[in-house]
Formats: sequence, structure tokens, C-alpha cells
Amino acid sequence: MSVSAKQGPTFGRMLLALTCKLRGTDILGKLKQIENAPFRSREEIRNKQFQDIRALLAHAEAKVPYYRNLFRQLGMRSEDVRTWGDFSRIPILTKDIIRANQQDLIREDIPIERLSPHFSGGSTGVPLKFFRSREYMVASDAGTYRNLEQCGWRPGEMIAFFWGGSDKLYRMSRLQFEMRQFVRRQYQFDPFFSGDQDMLGWIGLFERIRPGVILGYASTIARFAAFIESRGKKLNGVKGVFTTAEKIYRPQREVIERVFGCKVFDSYGSSEVQNIAAECPAGRMHINADFVVVEEDEAEADGPRPFLLTSLQNFSMPFIRYRNEDCGYLSEEMCSCPNHFPLMRLEIARTSDNFLLPGGRVVHGEFFTHLMYGSDGIVNFQFHQTSLDEIVLSIVPGAGAEERRDEKIRDSIRQIQELSPGRPIRVEVRYVESIPLSSAGKHRFTRSDVNAQAPAEPAPAGRS
Ligand SMILES: [Zn+2]
Repeated sequence: MSVSAKQGPTFGRMLLALTCKLRGTDILGKLKQIENAPFRSREEIRNKQFQDIRALLAHAEAKVPYYRNLFRQLGMRSEDVRTWGDFSRIPILTKDIIRANQQDLIREDIPIERLSPHFSGGSTGVPLKFFRSREYMVASDAGTYRNLEQCGWRPGEMIAFFWGGSDKLYRMSRLQFEMRQFVRRQYQFDPFFSGDQDMLGWIGLFERIRPGVILGYASTIARFAAFIESRGKKLNGVKGVFTTAEKIYRPQREVIERVFGCKVFDSYGSSEVQNIAAECPAGRMHINADFVVVEEDEAEADGPRPFLLTSLQNFSMPFIRYRNEDCGYLSEEMCSCPNHFPLMRLEIARTSDNFLLPGGRVVHGEFFTHLMYGSDGIVNFQFHQTSLDEIVLSIVPGAGAEERRDEKIRDSIRQIQELSPGRPIRVEVRYVESIPLSSAGKHRFTRSDVNAQAPAEPAPAGRS
């Protein structure tokens, strides 16, 4: 069957509305509720945010054991938090605290089976296990739609989604996969299969589905744009490109804008706290103040300060003043655009290398990070491609869980070798005490010395 996207936006919207109804995910209803929030006055936004904080704190105290104990230890009740100053005295939530209090951070009044487990992605830090509810995912999707609307895209118009595939998707038949993408109005381009042959196929696919926007990993979209340009082509009809999950460098932004003839909007989110901020048409990054409160960790003296994030929409596992180890600056300035959400600047060095394999397949670094999700007995790790057919996997082992660790490593090696059938990849496992940081002082889960990084190797320039 041939699935085409030539039908107009009204058709797409009806299809999307029907799909949401059948799935029980009212993304469009939620979007309607939040659509105008950025255009209220700064004061209204700030007041509403504080009301949301108070509601979240009351919920956490009543339903989440970790916070109930925390308030008890502090000798206070959640309702005693009446000012921003009171709020800033609530102790910071770190990744170590989350690891040590996994169960106690989850609301106790609903069965855990109703929540879905996730792992934090990205290329720095150590993966973290946490839980999300369906309601939170619906809100996050609506928040994404609100970001996309900034370029003139409307729900129902096709989204080209550059995001790592999952076993669930890989198990589907071609027809199931096509139907799923078509009714959800979001077509997945898999960065785990992004060699030249794959990208050639992507060009044909693009011309068939005619997406209104592009969303996904900055490095993959930039590599695709460079590939299109190298063939002397441009692709029209895209209204905006929304990059996320890793730092975007100026040359990457430029090649994307040239090839697709539209603006790049960088956005900032994470698995555990979604939809944190997004660039506006004026090129400034606005915090989605109805989703997240962002504070700077005042304890750090110089340079960009670590962020403390409070997720206002996640009630199943509240993140309150969570230090996610990203850094940046907050600003009190007003933007020239009509969006009155507060401004921030991000200083992350989150980059994933793309691995070129024997046989020409290119795999985004997130593939390797996913292999280690949910791994017991592993404190830290790094996949380092030292030559076309060799990967060194460094492991910093933790105490105990040896059997599960060994099984995880064996399984990872098997999956890596399956990436390149008939062209063996040697995986050398090294147990180490620590893994050296990059020159930027960050841990990197994935590193490749083989060049598949076109077009732009990071120059240490600032964000544009
Ligand atoms: Zn703006």
C-alpha cells in the first residue's frame, strides 16, 4: 500500500484527532488548554507558576513518601512555602538521591504498573531510571506541538521525526509501521540507520510524505542536510526545523537552514524533565514556564551555573529542584517576540558521536547509550570506536550484581556485532577505575575516532 501525505491539513488534523481519541490520549485538548499561556503578562505567568508549585508540593507531601519525610525532617508543612524565597530553601534533588530513593519518590496511591519506566538519555552523566504517567506524556506531546506551532505548522501536518528506533518499532511489519506513522502524523527516520544508502532512501521518503516540520537529533538532521546538499539538491515545503537532545553548532544550523530553506529552532528537554525550553522566531530560548521552573544553583560561583529543575506537570514521580547537571544562564530580559515566558541560555556540551561502521552503516551514538539502560553493577561506561572495526567498551564496575553486569555486557556485544553482518566488529571490554573526561570537562558515553561527523565538527564557538 502506498501512503501519501498529499491530503490537506484538515484531513491530517481529522486523522490525528481520531487517532488520539482511539488511543485515549487527548493531546489536542491539552494543547488547547496551554496554547495561550506564553502570551499572558510576565506577572501572570510568574503567579500561575507559583500556584502550580504549591499544588505540586501539597501533592508530593500527601502522596510521595520521600517528600513526606523530607518535610517532616525540615519541621515544616508544604503549605508553609509561601514565597519564592521559601521555595529556594527546599533541599536540592540530586541523581544520587534519586538512585538511593527510587521507590520512595514514586506516588504511592496508584499501582506502579500504570506507570512506564524510562531511562535518562543524553551523552553525559550516568543513566537514571524513573517513571512517567500517561498524563505526563500527553502534556509533553502537547508542549511539543505548542513549540512547533511557532513556525506556522499546525497539528495534523506531517512531522519528520529523527529519533532512535526501538524494539517495538523494529518488530512491526512494513505495513504496520507505515500505518502507525501515517495516522499519528509523525514519520520516524532512524538515526541508528543513517548511512549514505539510508539517506538516499530518506530523500525519496521526504518527497512522498512532505513533512511540514522536522524534529529530532541535531547531528542527524545536519548530516542529512549535508548529504542532500552534496547531491546538489534542496528540499522545499518545511516550515521549521526543531533540533534537540544535543548541542547544535553554528555550521550545522547553517547547512540545515540552507537546504530546507527555513529557520532552525533549538529546543531543550530531557527524558526525565521534558519540554524545558525552546527557541522562538526571534532566536531566544524561552523556558516553558507552565511545564518547568528553572533556577540556577547559587552554590556555584563562576561561569554558567548548574540548573535546578522543577517539573510542574509530572505528578507520578515529582522532580523538585532537581540538579540535572546541565548548565546555563537565566535572564530577566524581555524578548522582542510576543512570548512572555522567561529567557535562558544553555551551555551544554551534550554531543553524541555518529559511528561509521564497516559496510557503510552509520549509527547515532544514542544506540550505544541505550544498550546500557537499566544496567545494574555498572557505575559508568564509554563506547569508544578506535577504528572502523574496533570498539573499546570501558566499564567502571559497581559493587555486586556481577552476573547481571556480565549478561548486559555480553548482550551489548551481541547487538553491536549484529549492526554489521558479515563484517566483524571487534569489541574489547576494559574494566577501569575511571574514565577520563573530554577537553570540555564532560563525560562522554560515546566517542568515535572514525569520521562520520559531517558537516561540522564542533568548534568551541558559543551558541548563535
Ligand atoms: Zn522570543
